[in-house]
Formats: sequence, structure tokens, C-alpha cells
Amino acid sequence: MTTEQQKQQRHQQRQQRLKQKVDQAINAAVAEKGLLLVITGNGKGKSTSGFGTVARAVGHGLTAAVVQFIKGSWDCGERNLLEQHGVEFTVMATGFTWDTQDKAADIAAAEQVWLQAEAYLADDSIDVVLLDELTYMLSYHYIDLTRIEQALVNRPKNQHVIITGRACHRRLIELADTVSEVQSVKHAFDNGIKAQQGIDW
Ligand code: ATP
Ligand code: MG
Repeated sequence: MTTEQQKQQRHQQRQQRLKQKVDQAINAAVAEKGLLLVITGNGKGKSTSGFGTVARAVGHGLTAAVVQFIKGSWDCGERNLLEQHGVEFTVMATGFTWDTQDKAADIAAAEQVWLQAEAYLADDSIDVVLLDELTYMLSYHYIDLTRIEQALVNRPKNQHVIITGRACHRRLIELADTVSEVQSVKHAFDNGIKAQQGIDW
């Protein structure tokens, strides 16, 4: 056998062992239930990941609802698309933005939008609920942690929930099944490039 053939054989053996391991893990994963996903961290890609998952679910015929806890100053590309596919959106109508000034109005707006989130989390006809930027409601103490935990714990057994936003509360991370932290390596904004339609919103 030539050195090249030996290398090839070793590679094949390694791949076979790897395949066995992966197959074993796949066979061992049998539980089925609604998942709680958290996408947090300072890097770009949290909301796009949440919306990507909603699009994936809708593509399979699942139903979805989106609650946005930050009032954006721009219209939202995902909303324009997903509403056409029956995804219901609830957006914080007034109040909280990044440059918030009026705390009482913010709290009232947060309460309003959270009530809708609670309704989605109690509705077993909705397969996937995206709670976009929910984490800030906890950082600002606008919504009570216990209420959020209760709504998540008591939701329909097969309902999936995705929470996005920076600095996610430890208790939600503990409660979640899957948690990803998006790290910022660099961002165009730091080089004076403004937010781009279709990429940033
Ligand atoms: P996206 O919606 O693009 O997935 P995100 O949800 O991860 O971003 P947010 O903190 O919600 O990030 O910020 C929303 C806006 O801020 C987006 O326009 C995004 O491009 C921008 N942004 C995200 N991360 C950074 C960063 N590290 N520096 C500067 N701007 C950022
Ligand atoms: Mg976001």
C-alpha cells in the first residue's frame, strides 16, 4: 500500500468512527417537546436568527406569532414578508425605544405588549412565538421576571419560543433548552457605515 493509500484509509476510518458517534447521538435524542431558545450577546444576528427560525417554521406549515418589544424607527422587512404568510405581529406601539425618555409611558407600553405575548403563550394553535428584544424588558424592570417565567413554563407543551436581545437574564438562560451567544467581532457601524435596508432592518 502506498503512503497515499494509507492516508486515505486512515481518513476513511476516522470518518467512519465520527459517523458512528453522530448516528448514536441522533438515535439517543428521542424526546420531543416545544423548545425555548435564547439568542443573546452583543454581536449582530440575534433578531435575524429569530426571524429565520420563524420563516423556517412557516415554510413547514407551522403557525407563528411575533412580539417586538422595541419600537423600531424603520419598517421591518421580516414583518412585510411574514404577515403575508399569516404570521401575526404585535409591536410596541408607543413608548420604549433606544432613546427612551418617558418611563411611565414605557412601562404602560411594555405592559400592553406583554399582555399580547401572554395571550400567544397560552394559545396552543400557535406553534412558534418569537419574543424579539424581550431581554430589555427585564433589564429595565418593565416586566416582572416571575410573570415571564410563569407564562413560559405554563405554555402549551409543544409550543416553541424564541427570545432575543442582549444581556439575557440568568433565569431565562437556565430555563432555556438552547442558548446561543452571538459575539461581535466587528460591525460596519463602527466604521461609520449607517444601517442598511434589507440587512439591518
Ligand atoms: P439583527 O437584527 O441585524 O439580527 P441584532 O438583533 O443581533 O441584529 P440588536 O441589538 O437588536 O442586534 O440591534 C439592532 C440593530 O443594531 C441592527 O440594525 C444591527 O445591525 C445593529 N447592531 C447589531 N449589533 C451591533 C453591533 N455590535 N454594533 C453596532 N450595531 C449593531
Ligand atoms: Mg435584535
